[in-house]
Amino acid sequence: MAREYPIERTRDIGIIAHIDAGKTTVTERVLFYTGVSHKIGEVHEGTTVMDWMEQERERGITITAAATTAFWKPTYLGQEQIANSKGHEYRINIIDTPGHIDFTVEVQRSLRVLDGAVVVFDGVAGVEPQSETVWRQADKFKVPRICFINKLDRMGASFERSLNSIYERLTPNAVPVTIPIGHEQEHEGVIDLMRMRAVRFLGEHGEKIELAEIPAPLRKSAEEWRHKMVEKIAESDDTLTEKYLEGKEISMEELKSTLRKVTLEYKLVPVFCGSALKNKGVQLVLDGVIDYLPSPSDLPPVKGTDLKTGADEAREPKDDAPFAALAFKLQSDPYVGQLTYFRVYSGTLNAGSYVLNSATGEQERVGRILRMHANSREELKEINTGNIGAIVGLKNTHTGDTLCDPDKPIILEKIVFPEPVVGLKIEPKTKADQEKMGIALRRLSEEDPTFKIKGDPETGETIISGMGELHLEIIVDRMKREFSVVANVGRPQVAYKETIKKVAEAEGKYIRQSGGRGQYGHVWLRVEPRERGKGFEFINEIKGGIIPQEFIPAAEKGIKEAMEKGVMAGYPMVDMEVALYDGSYHEVDSSEAAFKIAGSIALQEAARRAGLVMLEPIMKIEVVLPEQFLGEVTGDLNSKRARIEEMSERGLGIKVIDAKVPLAETFGYVTTLRSLTQGRASFTMEFDHYEEVPNNIAQQIIEGKR
Ligand code: GDP
Repeated sequence: MAREYPIERTRDIGIIAHIDAGKTTVTERVLFYTGVSHKIGEVHEGTTVMDWMEQERERGITITAAATTAFWKPTYLGQEQIANSKGHEYRINIIDTPGHIDFTVEVQRSLRVLDGAVVVFDGVAGVEPQSETVWRQADKFKVPRICFINKLDRMGASFERSLNSIYERLTPNAVPVTIPIGHEQEHEGVIDLMRMRAVRFLGEHGEKIELAEIPAPLRKSAEEWRHKMVEKIAESDDTLTEKYLEGKEISMEELKSTLRKVTLEYKLVPVFCGSALKNKGVQLVLDGVIDYLPSPSDLPPVKGTDLKTGADEAREPKDDAPFAALAFKLQSDPYVGQLTYFRVYSGTLNAGSYVLNSATGEQERVGRILRMHANSREELKEINTGNIGAIVGLKNTHTGDTLCDPDKPIILEKIVFPEPVVGLKIEPKTKADQEKMGIALRRLSEEDPTFKIKGDPETGETIISGMGELHLEIIVDRMKREFSVVANVGRPQVAYKETIKKVAEAEGKYIRQSGGRGQYGHVWLRVEPRERGKGFEFINEIKGGIIPQEFIPAAEKGIKEAMEKGVMAGYPMVDMEVALYDGSYHEVDSSEAAFKIAGSIALQEAARRAGLVMLEPIMKIEVVLPEQFLGEVTGDLNSKRARIEEMSERGLGIKVIDAKVPLAETFGYVTTLRSLTQGRASFTMEFDHYEEVPNNIAQQIIEGKR
């Protein structure tokens, strides 16, 4: 079957923003206009646009799918507006990105599967903390992007001030390609600096686009903005620079194709503007997605590891290459059950075929493949490179797993999820809720790889853990709303860890030889600290059969169990290397059990000799507050063992504090900050790294005083 849209006419994008900047509104408009444009092509089939819009209003547009597909015809071809030309239609897959900071992980995993992003800003507030965090992550994942300065109709909105905040806080390489006609109530439309035309959005929903002369009072400033735009684009490319310096005319096509090229190289970032709520400017952003963001075929081949040979391997974004895809989100659906969203990096997948899950080594049958539209879902016989779909009924596939052709097994670079840093005891309010709670928690943890559940076998209690206090609050709230389970929760608890600071050696002996068959396990271990985050490594240095091969895994198991239990205060040990280098055995009495115990004894002793320390999670926090509260807030932060790293201005009388603070000190900060500042400050916080706990505090933790 031929593909419906050539790969060059496919875009996989995300819309990302600080909470409240207007992501939902922009997404709704995008789905609305793309729905309209798609239907326009089918008017002759009997559906009129108006009918469709009515239905749409009744049903509401679905924007909660992890990925939604839409179709867009660029508003213009050259200077001509396109009325109806199927041949110019593009497929845009919109991948949902969460708006919340406690879910940076969710942002990360969506950034991993999308190729380009539209970053939405509030035209009053400009760049806000989360926009900055997400921007840095997009840098890390090398995601080309365009910006949309939204809400220009709001009181106090300013395109220039917002743009300046982008220059100052995000990148000097932003380049406006549209500017607003008027602000606040006078915000009428935008000026397209490529065509030097005023663009107005008429009709009830702004769906009718009208091009006109630039209004006389704006002509001069439009000329200046255009001049700046042309200069910036020309400077970014050698051939164009030459032309520019020689004073030659540069055509719109040249400007656009160069801007596309350098946007894909992360050298420039086109900036659009308007008001999603007032239906102004969104269509030009869609044009921008087509013009300036990459298609899957613009990307380098995806990298992975050949499962058979362990060699590095790359897969071309081509339909006839072997199939490789990444599962990036699980979602439970009221109609069909579990959906596994995946992005195809290479090859084609047919419904009814089998895929290999490289993470589990198991093959699974691909029952149905679905594709989500704004107001419907479509069942696909096949899905090809660059596209996004959802498989129904996979049983053992998790977020981040690679799905591939069983004959050409590959494992794509994994999405790395951090370990949870906060835990909570949770129990159902009533006995009847017990089972329901179990089901709800399991479901939620399947969807979210940074949310974990653990049963304490000794007390029968359930502990849930996640990336922050808020993260767990939201989980508990979802449990109530979506699964009607009411639960009591305990106080949040820090996921401390233990590690060592020096190299040390110790012996472990487990020998019982009185009467009958004895026990004999004997090992010598060397422990050595590893860099933070490097985890555990076991090294077998036994030579010449001093300990028979069969007992070595048992010793390793004993070591691991002892590390898991902790030596100092019952927290798991991390970041160390353990070498088994000597020992002995007994022909008759040695057993796996004896070596396991010996390993455990030796590990505990070696750790005690190696300078045990406790580690705690350190959070990165940013507080935005009116200047008059600066003293109280910094004073309070200092009392919380925070390290203040930077203080800066944001607009008149607004200060920003960037600091690192131990997680243990942050519980309840929402309330503290509110009372310190009469509710006028806000903060964002995320996990940063693990660090040694000062001795006196570690002592208090051990004694149960903290
Ligand atoms: P999200 O949190 O980023 O998804 O933001 P929403 O789309 O939910 O928007 C947050 C609030 O801002 C809502 O009350 C919207 O109606 C409003 N909003 C969104 N876009 C605009 C806009 O262009 N102008 C104005 N005045 N308000 C807007």
